[in-house]
Amino acid sequence: MAAETSIEQLKADIVEVGRRLYARGFVASNDGNITIRFADDRLLTTPKSVSKGFMTTDMMVVVDMDGRKVSGTRDASSELKMHLEVYRQRPDARAVVHAHPPLATGFAVAGVPLDRAVLAEVICTLGSIPIAEYATPSTEELPEAVRRYIKAHDGLLLANHGALTVGGDVYSAYYKMETIEHFARISLTARLLGGERLIAQDEVLRLQSLRGLYGIASPAPICLDDVSEPGTAGVEDATCQVVRAPAAEGTRLVPDPASAVPLPTPAARAHAPQEDAEIRLTYRELAALIEDAVRRLR
Ligand SMILES: [Zn+2]
Repeated sequence: MAAETSIEQLKADIVEVGRRLYARGFVASNDGNITIRFADDRLLTTPKSVSKGFMTTDMMVVVDMDGRKVSGTRDASSELKMHLEVYRQRPDARAVVHAHPPLATGFAVAGVPLDRAVLAEVICTLGSIPIAEYATPSTEELPEAVRRYIKAHDGLLLANHGALTVGGDVYSAYYKMETIEHFARISLTARLLGGERLIAQDEVLRLQSLRGLYGIASPAPICLDDVSEPGTAGVEDATCQVVRAPAAEGTRLVPDPASAVPLPTPAARAHAPQEDAEIRLTYRELAALIEDAVRRLR
């Protein structure tokens, strides 16, 4: 394949990924940006101030690894600095996708990282999705916030902003964005239903070992954290993927006390009269209680 054809194909791939981001509501207006590294010193980037749902290949801009424009009629993405920092930290990365998927961004706004051990496919692939500290978009702060996490993670939330993913090609980076938003949707639903049950530590380690089996590349291993404290970002660069999973003997799923529905508050619950305290029963337990009551009536 001639080099020109190949670059044309990569431009078309960016257009297609932009369409998918827009169609799924992962971006609004001119939000989001996509880059592909197609040579050591060359990136293809989406242009500034264009809806990602309506791009054409001729809009793409070629820049060098210092962000200087090499070719293209438009200006490069305003978040180019963040993308350049990702490629500096991750020589393996060939594509970066940034978007504002609303459920994942909701977690980023609430300051709640997606780091609980709840879905096998997330543990096997992304591990956990931490939150990079708040930074003013398009300034030097944002690359700095991203730098601390991107060496160990293929997907990040950006505090009060959105999400960022990297991959070996642009579709792989895009699919990670889908996984993050899907994970956020499932996590929110579980919390509305009373909270996640967490996968216990031994099972998390078993799932991690599947990465090797299925040939899933990951920039860093999982490091297990107990569930007592919410994940807090340190000043040190992340070197592993912190996954919150309880240690548990003989069981693989454990209720997460930290993920219960926030209302009523713990203080309100403490002051509630005992008779009004909420109890939770499984369907089987409830059925057994009813059967027992019916038996007594007879
Ligand atoms: Zn953004």
